[in-house]
Amino acid sequence: MSFDPVPVALRRSRSVASSRVGMPHTPPAAGMPEEGSLADRYGRIHTDLRISVTDRCNLRCVYCMPEEGVPTMPRSELLTFEEIERVAQVAYRLGVNAVRLTGGEPLVRKGLVDLVGRLARIGFEDLALTTNGMALPALARPLADAGLARINISCDSLRHERFASIRRRGRLDGVLEAMSAAEEAGLGPVKVNVVLMAGWNDDEVLDFAEFARATRRVVRFIEFMPLDAQGSWSSDLVVPGEKVLAQINAVWPLEEVERASDQGAPAERFRFADGAGEIGIIRSVTQPFCSTCDRLRLMADGAIRNCLFSDDELSVRDVLRNGGGDDDVARLLRRSVWAKAPGHGINEPDFLRPVRSMSMIGG
Ligand code: SAM
Repeated sequence: MSFDPVPVALRRSRSVASSRVGMPHTPPAAGMPEEGSLADRYGRIHTDLRISVTDRCNLRCVYCMPEEGVPTMPRSELLTFEEIERVAQVAYRLGVNAVRLTGGEPLVRKGLVDLVGRLARIGFEDLALTTNGMALPALARPLADAGLARINISCDSLRHERFASIRRRGRLDGVLEAMSAAEEAGLGPVKVNVVLMAGWNDDEVLDFAEFARATRRVVRFIEFMPLDAQGSWSSDLVVPGEKVLAQINAVWPLEEVERASDQGAPAERFRFADGAGEIGIIRSVTQPFCSTCDRLRLMADGAIRNCLFSDDELSVRDVLRNGGGDDDVARLLRRSVWAKAPGHGINEPDFLRPVRSMSMIGG
């Protein structure tokens, strides 16, 4: 099994250009509510905004980006912090109560601490960040002081050489140091994101479970999704969450942690029956959780996207830079949510990968 280092042309599932709305004063879509919370046609209320602050990354994980030749968005196309803050303020008014910053690698965006401060002042109940941890040791304390509440750190192997071969850059020690720095800064309990790939790191499930028990960090096993820029994903590489659970449960019995009825979080939570911590599994491929999805995405270039797998994007940057007001931004957010499909369709025979890959969209 190998990953093609050169990005291949991806099929376009839908026309991105034709679906973008560049002008302010976007008309409402038929039947779309003009007030109240961000509801879609299937009754899902959207309260969680993922904000990608950059498509750049200092790593080249095999399941995400090619090693070389990664095209990046021109800086002038990225939303400024003022623009991100404005969209976030409107989203807050529409009932969004949780924000997660992501990328690319969010910590490579200069001045991120300033953005965290701006978002914290809006008053979200939850303000979180997903990072590869490379730059975290120096930033954990300033981020926490600026109002960051929680952190997820990606780490796909606990073996030095393997870590290097999956991530292609960076060192395991640096990520472990980042986890400690986050805890010292009060950002614990740290969640550790592990993308499992068959034949790459699926023999480390028990090692990670043991790590979760020893450190009380919440390890979350994520199924590999068809969002890598190289187009190397295949269903053979997916390690089903069910298998992960069975393997851990056979050694350390697990109990499911019940979700609150209004909780749309992707991870299913399980605690060790002996009280030694918790793990999570994210079964986006084998057991999609679209019916409870409450997420909306703001990409670094200002595209609003209602699903990782949907190419239908609306440009809030165009609205803002063409003089649109807060009501225009609100209408755009409502339109995006209203257009959301009932599911991502990965397992449907006519599924087409999205044109933009994970690092561009923001995971
Ligand atoms: N750079 C940051 C990081 O490494 O956590 C944040 C962005 S990254 C895109 C967010 C999360 O998406 C990470 O946990 C990463 O492991 C995960 N991810 C990236 N590509 C993926 C894929 N093809 N399938 C499943 N998860 C993926």
